[in-house]
Amino acid sequence: MEREVRVRFAPSPTGPLHIGGVRTALYNYLLAKKVGGKMILRIEDTDQNRFVPGAEDYILESLKWCGIELDESPVVGGPYAPYRQSERKPMYMQYAMQLIESGHAYYAFDTAEELDAMRERLKAAKVATPQYNSITRNTMRNSLTLPEDEVKQLLDSGAPYVIRLKVPRKEEIRLKDLIRGWVMVHSSAIDDKVLMKSDGMPTYHLANIVDDHLMQITHVIRGEEWLPSAPLHVLLYRYLGWEDTMPEFAHLPLLLKPDGNGKLSKRDGDKLGFPVFPLRWTDPFTGEVSSGYRESGYLPEAFVNFLAFLGWNPGTQQELFTMDELADEFTIERIGKSGTRFDIQKARWFNEQYLRAKPDAELAKYLLAALEEHNISCTQEKAEKIAGLMKERVSFPQEFWREASYFFVAPTEYNEKVATKKWNSQAVAVFEDFKNELPALQNFNADSVKELLLGILERHNMKIGQVMQALRLAVTGAEAGPDLMQIIEVIGKEETVSRIGTAIEKLSQYATA
Ligand code: GLU
Repeated sequence: MEREVRVRFAPSPTGPLHIGGVRTALYNYLLAKKVGGKMILRIEDTDQNRFVPGAEDYILESLKWCGIELDESPVVGGPYAPYRQSERKPMYMQYAMQLIESGHAYYAFDTAEELDAMRERLKAAKVATPQYNSITRNTMRNSLTLPEDEVKQLLDSGAPYVIRLKVPRKEEIRLKDLIRGWVMVHSSAIDDKVLMKSDGMPTYHLANIVDDHLMQITHVIRGEEWLPSAPLHVLLYRYLGWEDTMPEFAHLPLLLKPDGNGKLSKRDGDKLGFPVFPLRWTDPFTGEVSSGYRESGYLPEAFVNFLAFLGWNPGTQQELFTMDELADEFTIERIGKSGTRFDIQKARWFNEQYLRAKPDAELAKYLLAALEEHNISCTQEKAEKIAGLMKERVSFPQEFWREASYFFVAPTEYNEKVATKKWNSQAVAVFEDFKNELPALQNFNADSVKELLLGILERHNMKIGQVMQALRLAVTGAEAGPDLMQIIEVIGKEETVSRIGTAIEKLSQYATA
């Protein structure tokens, strides 16, 4: 019988979630959603030394913002609760014991000093990677080298110990990765990994395999950095007798820095000029703040669409996908093998597309919120009109105010370049007439304003192209923007007249020619 697809995202709460982690969560979610399976969040917090307060909440909030819904999690619970490994602590020892009993694991009593001494010895003997492994274990203090009664006595006396996996000396370990195909690793490359630590906590490797098994996980989709651990995981499944239900593995290619040189890492923070975290993060220890996509003005739909394409493609020209469409199209086979360069311009492009697709009424909300902060009142109708005029020109919601404040506040500064090039006495002569005749204009709107201006230009024997930029400068202070006649319609007769008057005064030094 086909098993129900069950995938998990298994972050460690050691800090903010990196965008690479969000992508991993997204691909897991898309697979589950595509086939009607289950998406599970498991918090892997067995390494208490690396625990960071607030990290788990941050993970949950990030997933929620992206629209990644969890069927089972530490918050909603589920049939395999608890979903936090620290709360599952009592479950792991029995599996470590099972491995000891079947001869696949052993107790090791070596102190930190003894381990250091071993590494020094190996280094001196020019061993490239000194490891506790099938050869060196024979020289150490463990239940394979010590007499049985001494082991018993050590255990009875409460001496500290770890439990290590007994990795075979010569064995080819094969595993089929859904993205990379067959991966072969020789067991001599793997050390005798610690499975249980001296504090009674399992390590990542043991806890991860036990939980994936108990939680009936069918697919492990995770970052490429875990590929070197995968052969070890295969051994664990085998030794625990769970090979029949071992999940399928898919190791995702790395996200690379924009120049392709190396992995995009958490430490890149804001150094590259864009966020590497979904939400803003304040480090609880140092107070350092790292920016997030949400706070930078990215819409979650755009962020998700962008992330989906960092490593996957649908095989067609279509680029805009809702979450439902992504799930329909998603297949692991279409995930690329090589690393994907991060391209923030593409993220911006996605954001522009999603902004433009929103109805003006919704975009008006961004503007109205900013206006409220600045204590400026504005009708819904006017806000909608401005949003509609601006939407082709902005990439982020906050720009509705930043780029369009001239709809509400008269310019105090004028673009210098335009003033030098375009402000001249002929234009000023046209503007004087325009300002004088505007107040009497009937049916004031973009069309009638334009007609009036064209009439005046004709009298002056001039073309509209000769004054347009200067008029925009007078009304908005800016070099570019949406249709000027529409802007004038929105700001109104009186305000336009007053702004033109002010500009004529303030820009007089340019009007010599
Ligand atoms: N806890 C691991 C991490 O932080 C999980 C790796 C896996 O998915 O197996 O990435």
